[in-house]
Amino acid sequence: MSILTKNIGDFLLDVVFPKKCASCSKLDTLFCEKCRSKIIFLKTQNCPFCLKITTRGRVCPSCKSKSALTGVYVIAHFDGPLKEVIHQYKYEFVKALKDDLADVAWPYLEDFPKNAVLTCVPSSPKRLAWRGYNQAEEIAKILAQKTGMRFYPSLLKRTEYKIPQTQLRRKERFENVKNAFKIDRKIDLEGKQVVIFDDLVTSGATLDACAGEIRKMGATRVWGFVLARNK
Ligand SMILES: [Zn+2]
Ligand SMILES: [Zn+2]
Repeated sequence: MSILTKNIGDFLLDVVFPKKCASCSKLDTLFCEKCRSKIIFLKTQNCPFCLKITTRGRVCPSCKSKSALTGVYVIAHFDGPLKEVIHQYKYEFVKALKDDLADVAWPYLEDFPKNAVLTCVPSSPKRLAWRGYNQAEEIAKILAQKTGMRFYPSLLKRTEYKIPQTQLRRKERFENVKNAFKIDRKIDLEGKQVVIFDDLVTSGATLDACAGEIRKMGATRVWGFVLARNK
């Protein structure tokens, strides 16, 4: 596609679907300054499983034996405008919001070592077909560009869950995702720290299952890095 055709395409898109804030509908922006200023960033981090306060969201000593994760870093409260923006990005196909969400996230990635490797939670084949993109991968790609971190989008592949996670209780979620992820692209991660990006964390079961597979490639620490915690 030439630049001209692309610009005309963008222009037509703007006419048919004028840009407006995903939260307050202000025109000419997808996520306005005012709504953005309402994001409540977390001041403390928690163990992803028992929610005890820990440094940078490390898994606490009592939960450690149950998990392959080193910890899960959560950026903000899942509330207000951020919640609406994530919802539109995930379920209403406003793909362009990936830039705004990456903007919110990337400064917090600076807390991780520069030589850490970035990856993302793979979509299930059904979700990918429905949405047309892996929402976590789109953001992670921008995060890698902004931070200079090495990015491997397809370390893992995902099979269909037997039952959608949302229909299950906490304990059942861990059972359900067991064996749902397999190594897709074997990379030597010996001695490396790996950061798995996802939009939301709920029980931590998905990130934990991914971390288990990533550990098999030699990674010493595997972190989850998410926009918010969905209760
Ligand atoms: Zn707004
Ligand atoms: Zn814990």
